[in-house]
Amino acid sequence: MSSYPHLLAPLDLGFTTLPNRVLMGSMHVGLEEEKGSFPKLAAYFAARARGGVGLIVTGGISPNRAGQLKPFAATLSTKREAARHKNVTDAVHAEGGRIAMQILHAGRYSYHPFAVAPTRIKSPISPFSPWGLTGRGVQGTIDDFVRCAVLAREAGYDGVEVMGSEGYLINQFIVSHTNKRADGWGGAYENRIRFPLEIVQRIREAVGKDFIVIYRLSMMDLVPTGSTWDEVLQLAKGIQAAGATMLNTGIGWHEARVPTIATLVPRAAFTWVTRRLRESGEITIPLVTSNRINTPEVAEQVLASGAADMVSMARPLLADPDFVAKAKAGRAQDINTCIACNQACLDHIFQNKRASCLVNPQACHETELVYTPPARKLRVAVVGAGPAGLSCATVAAERGHDVTLFEADPTIGGQFNLARQIPGKEEFNETLRYYAGRLEKTGVTQRLGARVGPDELRAFDAIVIATGVNPRKVSFPGHDHPKVLSYVDVLTRKATVGAKVAIVGAGGIGFDVAEFLSEPAQRGDTHPDIAAFLAEWGVDHAGWGTKGSDARGGLTKPTAAHAGRHIYLLQRSPRKHGENLGKTTGWIHRSSLKQRGVEMIGGVQYDRVDDAGLHVTVNGQQSVIEVDHVVICAGQVSNDTLAAPLRAAGRTVHVIGGAHEAGELDAKRAIAQGAQVAAAL
Ligand code: FAD
Ligand code: NAP
Ligand code: SF4
Repeated sequence: MSSYPHLLAPLDLGFTTLPNRVLMGSMHVGLEEEKGSFPKLAAYFAARARGGVGLIVTGGISPNRAGQLKPFAATLSTKREAARHKNVTDAVHAEGGRIAMQILHAGRYSYHPFAVAPTRIKSPISPFSPWGLTGRGVQGTIDDFVRCAVLAREAGYDGVEVMGSEGYLINQFIVSHTNKRADGWGGAYENRIRFPLEIVQRIREAVGKDFIVIYRLSMMDLVPTGSTWDEVLQLAKGIQAAGATMLNTGIGWHEARVPTIATLVPRAAFTWVTRRLRESGEITIPLVTSNRINTPEVAEQVLASGAADMVSMARPLLADPDFVAKAKAGRAQDINTCIACNQACLDHIFQNKRASCLVNPQACHETELVYTPPARKLRVAVVGAGPAGLSCATVAAERGHDVTLFEADPTIGGQFNLARQIPGKEEFNETLRYYAGRLEKTGVTQRLGARVGPDELRAFDAIVIATGVNPRKVSFPGHDHPKVLSYVDVLTRKATVGAKVAIVGAGGIGFDVAEFLSEPAQRGDTHPDIAAFLAEWGVDHAGWGTKGSDARGGLTKPTAAHAGRHIYLLQRSPRKHGENLGKTTGWIHRSSLKQRGVEMIGGVQYDRVDDAGLHVTVNGQQSVIEVDHVVICAGQVSNDTLAAPLRAAGRTVHVIGGAHEAGELDAKRAIAQGAQVAAAL
């Protein structure tokens, strides 16, 4: 008997049966546009098909030029383009998988001057004002959606997903603040939803009955003038009647100011929305739920609760292509869990870079980062069991080397042991669980609690130094005053922090320490409370999904919740706080801390610390910030002292992670560098 009977149950769609309830959600990964990258894209999808996913959905492909997310973005409008997609569909089918292509028209979210929208209204997240579509333009766009679906079928796809959520073109027609048209496509709600209804109905007519048509429905817009619940329900019924095979869940427009997938969002925090649609009793086609479902246990629970017929997981399949196969084989402990950091996937896409995964650097590099057996088995010493060392040791051992991992602490993890203390970063525990299992499986000899020196390393054939970083010390007068603490003292709870605190340094760690110190008491366990999260961010948990609820977009007034501490987050730079935080997560940290009353002050000169507090000069004005404690988060410096004596003795050493370079270090770079060095040993 499987531990996941609901997750692994087949889903009969009438004309075809999916082998299980896992849908790999759409993700644009950047390979779609890279020159000559279709074989790489094919290898990426084939790995997920081999890993047993029930149905894959591709990244969004535009039906025409105006709908491209950026200039030259992937489009399917000709037979020639369709022929290229055969690479992908053939590779997936050869592995026994199924794949649907997402059709995405970005509307006013397009990042180019040819963008179009129902009405000429600029979005807050693109510098380009769209052109308002004429009546003929609307009909032409519908024709393009239909042609795109027909070409997808010709290219060998098993279906299409029509992207009707996240604030893209279709959503822009549906909602009144982006649709001010006076013709038959605007005005009353019935008119505004004609656009998606005609698209789905005409696609169904054109592709026939035996082709999957998924509609991604914005079930909660999370923007102030978004649809009401009754409107969502009306659209869902219309889409069902128009011939969709399944409804997938979309939560929040891209311009929404509520986090929906970041790591601080509790697992499965939005599946209740899909459940309420199901409970309406009006929808009989399968429903797919989504957002922050990242383990088979959570997925099983969601399905068993009756929230949906299928779960969509996108990033978890980047993190581990074998997610389903491992769950099926009773090896869920071996899954490399997505920690929802966005650092290597979404943040890359926003920087026009190819996506990958922080915990799995092979993602989207399947043909480039390959772990082959070595020409000669080496005795490898890896010093330091932080992310860099763990990655290096396990890949080297997987390839067949004889690896010994030395770690000064009694436990593995390095700074991840600090990161996982931060409320909202509980997922980092999963990476440590994964690596602990991987060390055992690959047969790495672990020497924990062993701070090594150069002498013990000389006997090894290859030496990898992954000894990480030390906190940077500050030198202003009073740096050794008892009020002054290091972030390490705070996060390891060695120090008790008072009610008034100044944080010196507003980098990633300064922000995290502010989050840690301002966290209300009710959160911070491994499963943060969904209701508390929704209340803090102003999501109408009580009313949304109940008939007659008049809240628009699922929003209500946020309830500020904080620890009651007065916190100052300081930096010397006059620039915006948190400028270097992730593109997709920086705004969340900033608004969370603002909501908790954290005072962010830039352009600060630190004069001294004494019994009165922290003396500073800001804009030429001297003052004292009266605080109980000053927490230093002033960056880090490399701890690479082992390398020099070994090199002096003529040994080649590989220095990786923070030991190699402390500036702009993060776990993404540490893990990728560890894997790359190990792949080349
Ligand atoms: P480390 O993690 O520093 O590990 C080095 C290891 O070497 C340590 O365990 C140390 O004990 C051991 N060691 C040192 N000398 C010896 C010796 N002589 N013998 C044996 N062992 C030795 N990064 C992100 O990407 N995303 C985040 O959200 C994020 N959040 C963070 C939050 C906090 C609070 C902190 C502190 C860090 C965060 N980071 C984050 C940064 C991330 O943890 C680091 O970039 C990463 O841990 C660096 O990995 P590393 O292996 O190079 O070094
Ligand atoms: P950081 O990002 O480099 O920030 C260091 C902060 O200290 C800056 O605000 C800097 O700003 C200040 N500072 C530097 N030297 C100082 C000095 N001598 N005196 C006083 N202030 C000084 O480093 P970090 O916060 O320690 O983070 C380390 C790494 O961990 C980062 O590179 C980051 O990538 C990673 N991390 C990532 C996340 C994430 O969410 N992705 C979270 C945590 C950590 P001023 O010079 O303006 O004062
Ligand atoms: Fe998940 Fe982070 Fe990997 Fe993206 S980069 S798939 S969010 S673990």
